[in-house]
Amino acid sequence: MSRPFNFSAGPAMLPQAVLEKAQAEMLDWHGSGMSIMEMSHRGKEYLSVAEKAESDLRSLMNISDDYAVLFLQGGASSQFAMVPMNLLRGKRKADYINTGAWSKKAIAEAKLFCDVNVAASSEDKKFSYAPAQDTWQLSNDAAFVHYTPNETIGGVEFHWVPETGDVPLVADMSSTILSRPIEVSKFGVIYAGAQKNIGPAGLTLAIVRKDLMGQTLAGTPSMFDYKIHADNDSMYNTPSTYAWYLAGLVFEWLQEQGGLEGMARINQRKAQKLYAAIDNSDFYANPVQVDCRSWMNIPFTLANADLDKTFLDEALKANLKTLKGHRSVGGMRASIYNAMPEAGVDALVEFMQDFEKRYG
Ligand SMILES: *Cc1c(COP(=O)(O)O)cnc(C)c1O
Repeated sequence: MSRPFNFSAGPAMLPQAVLEKAQAEMLDWHGSGMSIMEMSHRGKEYLSVAEKAESDLRSLMNISDDYAVLFLQGGASSQFAMVPMNLLRGKRKADYINTGAWSKKAIAEAKLFCDVNVAASSEDKKFSYAPAQDTWQLSNDAAFVHYTPNETIGGVEFHWVPETGDVPLVADMSSTILSRPIEVSKFGVIYAGAQKNIGPAGLTLAIVRKDLMGQTLAGTPSMFDYKIHADNDSMYNTPSTYAWYLAGLVFEWLQEQGGLEGMARINQRKAQKLYAAIDNSDFYANPVQVDCRSWMNIPFTLANADLDKTFLDEALKANLKTLKGHRSVGGMRASIYNAMPEAGVDALVEFMQDFEKRYG
């Protein structure tokens, strides 16, 4: 069976080896006679799966015991609320960096809870860059600083980690987590919806510095309290058991790829190939400032937008799926997360060059 290369921004491709393993274990997980989906989350079999996933993630990302690793639900979109509910800790203000569609959503949600100071924004140039740290106007009484290291729709990525001193740095890493090593100790909270680089939809990862927990806003529901989830090992209620298991298989797969150092090398090479194909052509263009181009989401336009539909139809015939750009920006977007094989990028580049020859 030849599976297509799926460039969807999320839910996205999963490694084929992971899907095959899940398939082999579907009806009878390790001689239990049960599918993971049918197991009690409190039984010893499932607990071993859950614990291994957490410890593998901790070793992949080098996460210290100062941090809780939470396997939650509700998507990154719930974190937009959960972050202020937990991190304001008696303060009334938070700093946000506005770099595009997802930042804007985080900002709008935070405004339900506190004063938001937009400390830097790239809206002046259509969100085509990551504002340099020396342009940021941070407030002196902010409870935290929030930014979006990779804007999934605009294809803009911070290739550096901001310095915020004693003020906790919060990162929505939904579309870049696990793409490369990061220094977790520089962050107060890291969160990510799973469906891009972790596993299936329905799971949300939050990595939370423990000293920031336990001071929620009055009226915070239990399900929005990091500390309640941490104290209950993410089993305050029934977690998304199957997605958690599958994420664990992805973590094992990542170890086999050489961990995050190995993944970073592959991801950078994949991205460079695609950007080179775009830059070496007058037919394709990418609007993002070169030093802020995403390794994960690569938007591009055709010189003649009337050809968009033909491009997508022919791409589909070449087994290249879901290349249509986000409805808010048009054009194309290739999302090339960890699970996109390098052969998929090669196939896309070859298709683009051939298409340009015939229509350019
Ligand atoms: C996809 C995405 C989200 C939304 O995630 P949900 O899990 O659907 O809530 C938020 N932020 C970023 C950066 C994303 O890529």
